Amino acid sequence: MTETYEILIAGAGITGLTAAMTAARLGRKTMVLTGGVPGGHLISIDSIEAFPGFPEGISGYELCPMVQEQAADAGADFASGELQRIDAVNDGYRITSNDGEYQARSIILATGTQLRELGIPGEAGFRGKGVSHCASCDAPLLRDRTVVVIGGGDSAMQEALTLAESAAQVSILHRGAALTGQATFRERVNAHAKINIRPHTIVEEIAGDDAVTAVRIQDEQSGDSAELEAAGVFVYIGMEPNSAYLADLLSLDDDGRIPVDAQLRSALKGVFAAGMVRSGSRGQAVCSAADGTTAAIGADLYLTNGSWPVKE
Ligand code: NDP
Repeated sequence: MTETYEILIAGAGITGLTAAMTAARLGRKTMVLTGGVPGGHLISIDSIEAFPGFPEGISGYELCPMVQEQAADAGADFASGELQRIDAVNDGYRITSNDGEYQARSIILATGTQLRELGIPGEAGFRGKGVSHCASCDAPLLRDRTVVVIGGGDSAMQEALTLAESAAQVSILHRGAALTGQATFRERVNAHAKINIRPHTIVEEIAGDDAVTAVRIQDEQSGDSAELEAAGVFVYIGMEPNSAYLADLLSLDDDGRIPVDAQLRSALKGVFAAGMVRSGSRGQAVCSAADGTTAAIGADLYLTNGSWPVKE
């Protein structure tokens, strides 16, 4: 028989884990579909610097398991399935995962994002052979080598700083005129002796033999092409929401994110969206955690009073 939960949370990044902790503390029968390694993007971050209460920073691989433990201690259940489909049934929803079926009276979608890909020659072929999305995992393997980071936002700068602890030189290749993202990262990468920033740079190809050896770049202003030596290529050009499972169920915004109101209610009765999969997310870990709490409190209220805004 399919087990019925009061709140089912899809996703176990900082958003889903915090939602689970809050929902279980509110006394709700709570299930989390983790859909992979709990912790999401943060699990590979060496130092989350802007999380209140941790002036020295805290790694994602410390923070996320702590929150998961808090959720489990409060009574939340966890299953490793990945959300595939949602169907409305009498008193809620049937949730299909690759690991089984569940029923829930309300759902919190916290499925987050995946890193965007460049789609250039060599990117797929050299994945795991120099092309990486995880600076903290691969930095020790690239000690004293030359690496490049592609992108100009917070992720690119944060990961460049992590890589610079081991690599001989890190080049940040950015297609824009200036780095975006937080001033604290901009100042540190600009001041770092091992980090070199190349604006107006388009990466056209990742080259190598058994593993990556170089990237072919073009200067957007002069049109000149060049080859840069690189033993590692780290692509941080933004994130795409994991929302494909909603294709026939909900209208998404232009970025593929889930529109919500201030209480994180979607257009589907009893279904909330929280964290980076929702429209308007700020992308900071603390905002995503707060979203988890907001959505769980909203789901608790919904289960108590059954009210949902009527769509005009
Ligand atoms: P962003 O969307 O913020 O930045 C993406 C970068 O990649 C931009 O510089 C963009 O350039 C560039 N880019 C996009 N597409 C391409 C392309 N096809 N080719 C080359 N370059 C491209 O993504 P991030 O992953 O940096 O950040 C996502 C969110 O996560 C943000 O909200 C950020 O604040 C948050 N974050 C917070 C951190 C923290 O607080 N410690 C750490 C990491 C992320 P362009 O401007 O030209 O489009």
